[in-house]
Amino acid sequence: MTIARTIEELRAALAEHRRAGRTIGLVPTMGFLHEGHLSLLRAARRRCDIVVMSLFVNPTQFGPGEDLESYPRDENHDIGLARAEGVDVVYAPAAENVFPEGFATTVEVGGGLTDVLDGDPGRRGPEHFRGVTTIVAKLFNSAMPDVAFFGQKDAQQAAVIRRMTRDLDFPVEIAIEPTVREPDGLALSSRNTYLSPEERERALALSRALRATADAVAGGERDVDAALDAGRAELRAAGIEPEYLEARDAEDLSAVGSFNGRPVLVAVAARVGKARLIDNLIIGEGPASDPGAPLNRDRGGLT
Ligand code: AMP
Repeated sequence: MTIARTIEELRAALAEHRRAGRTIGLVPTMGFLHEGHLSLLRAARRRCDIVVMSLFVNPTQFGPGEDLESYPRDENHDIGLARAEGVDVVYAPAAENVFPEGFATTVEVGGGLTDVLDGDPGRRGPEHFRGVTTIVAKLFNSAMPDVAFFGQKDAQQAAVIRRMTRDLDFPVEIAIEPTVREPDGLALSSRNTYLSPEERERALALSRALRATADAVAGGERDVDAALDAGRAELRAAGIEPEYLEARDAEDLSAVGSFNGRPVLVAVAARVGKARLIDNLIIGEGPASDPGAPLNRDRGGLT
């Protein structure tokens, strides 16, 4: 396994494979790997000849007062896990190599996609996603992957990256993998490490709120606000005030008023202790929840 610290080292590690026509899969991460990340690495391993994992805590997607300094890091452990998963190249650049003096360009997805689900009053959305799309665009240009793998856990991020890829004609297929959870429902996150045992128990209310909303819809509730009430009750019972608990069109994140058979993303964000946690599920779609994908994708239909 090669560890590349600069874009030159990364390109050198991939040049031969590209010449030989091998497919390259990219898995972008901020490290402190858990089973969610490993599921992306395994998906990449299955699909592609060569697997590149990037390991970079991207400063530009953290807002002022967010946890950039304290974000958990354990590079040696991550490198060991990557090796065990058969990763071919770990790209772990220093921030000054990625954003050298004079860096002045950003990539921003408009059209409202980054303007929703951003929590009030934080208005975290657009700036956060500008940081995400700028680094992902750079990673695409650095590794030039055939396929890039992202988690459904970050549903809005997946939709934004899909749009950027389409709008800017990046020749990269975007693969979205299902959210990996603990047996009790808690979505895995590097930030779960901030939770005390008592906070971890309360954090379960996020997935319970999503489930309660889905259950209300399964029970015949069509009105979005009424269904979300079931979710709000779960959060309230755990003493959690969400940044948002919202239902959105799963493809373009536009507002929806009723559950009418189209896939709807139900997403929640909340602070529990010092961790900002997010979770989501899609109602009205099969198990491979994939916001932003064409609705008939992989359904095997003839249309
Ligand atoms: P991060 O290191 O948090 O930036 O995440 C790197 C990638 O892993 C992103 O594409 C995330 O969506 C994905 N990811 C994070 N948590 C999970 C999870 N619980 N299940 C599946 N994918 C995840």
